[in-house]
Amino acid sequence: MSRVYNFSAGPAVLPEEVLREAAEEMLDYRGTGMSVMEMSHRSKPFQEIIDTAEADLRDLMKIPEDYEVLFLQGGASQQFAAVPMNLMKNGVADYIVTGQWAKKAAQEAEKYGKVNIIASSADKTFSYIPDVSALAVSEDADYVYICENNTIYGTKYKELPDTKGKTLVADVSSCFLSEPHDVTKYGVIYGGVQKNIGPAGTVIVIIRKDLISDEVLPGTPTMLKYKTHADAGSLYNTPPAYGIYICGKVFKWLKKRGGLGAMKEYNERKAKVLYDYLDQSKMFRGTVEKKDRSLMNVPFVIGDADLEAKFIQDSKAAGFENLKGHRTVGGMRASIYNAMPVEGVEALVEFMKKFEEENL
Ligand SMILES: *Cc1c(COP(=O)(O)O)cnc(C)c1O
Repeated sequence: MSRVYNFSAGPAVLPEEVLREAAEEMLDYRGTGMSVMEMSHRSKPFQEIIDTAEADLRDLMKIPEDYEVLFLQGGASQQFAAVPMNLMKNGVADYIVTGQWAKKAAQEAEKYGKVNIIASSADKTFSYIPDVSALAVSEDADYVYICENNTIYGTKYKELPDTKGKTLVADVSSCFLSEPHDVTKYGVIYGGVQKNIGPAGTVIVIIRKDLISDEVLPGTPTMLKYKTHADAGSLYNTPPAYGIYICGKVFKWLKKRGGLGAMKEYNERKAKVLYDYLDQSKMFRGTVEKKDRSLMNVPFVIGDADLEAKFIQDSKAAGFENLKGHRTVGGMRASIYNAMPVEGVEALVEFMKKFEEENL
């Protein structure tokens, strides 16, 4: 068996320790004689799995009691519809567009009400985060929406927008648990777990309880109503059971490593290795404004399509997988989520140095 350094943007690298533990429990989960995959979601062992996962997540993120934690399906993309369906009481929402995911969310919301784009970085191919300190937040907006870390473009909000008291909704798919979040600043935080937490198929929604109600837009499917899932402890129907189980293991792994503060430090150290190299390289360069750089997704270019193709090919042969940039952006992107060890980033930089020497 040999493991590669996997720089995929998602589904992405998971902690080896977690995978090993899951492998050990695959055929017989703790004396039950069955895999978690084969287990009723109404069984006692599964109830314990989901309860423990929620408790550990609450502990990690310091989620207050007046917030609900939901484990759902449908990916982050389904939340693009669920958010307006549940929250658009006035039929108006403000969106800040900093990349494709925010744009898709805004486009979906337009089906349900009036969407105001109150800031955007589309003018410079989403290579920065606009100034969000003095936004023209709409008087009647039900919420202000952001995508906190832009997976494709590699930018991240360092300060949350001033929403003038309006509910903040954030897609945190690609920065979930990468650093502490002050949950109280948000009405809704959600993310697909396949970027930084677990296997594809689970989406976690953290929502302030007063935002959960039966008053949703007419025609909202039962499954898209937050109240449906909140009332049933995420067990209205069969949840993504195996995914929740793996997420739970990752939560334990994070706690063992010192929690989100420690993770932030580690992620900063890791990202610095790569950014420092990019900043002095004569061949490679980062594509986003320094102040807005993501700790999780690092896009970079050479500026020569042939050399970039060679780099992607050579890096793959050397055991560095998935460095090709997003199909809409080109170039390269290294996603260095929580489970990517610093050794992986150091090895990548060594490889890049060598490539630079040999090809400049
Ligand atoms: C990947 C991603 C999505 C889409 O996630 P799906 O689970 O595939 O729907 C949405 N937002 C962000 C920020 C992402 O990185």
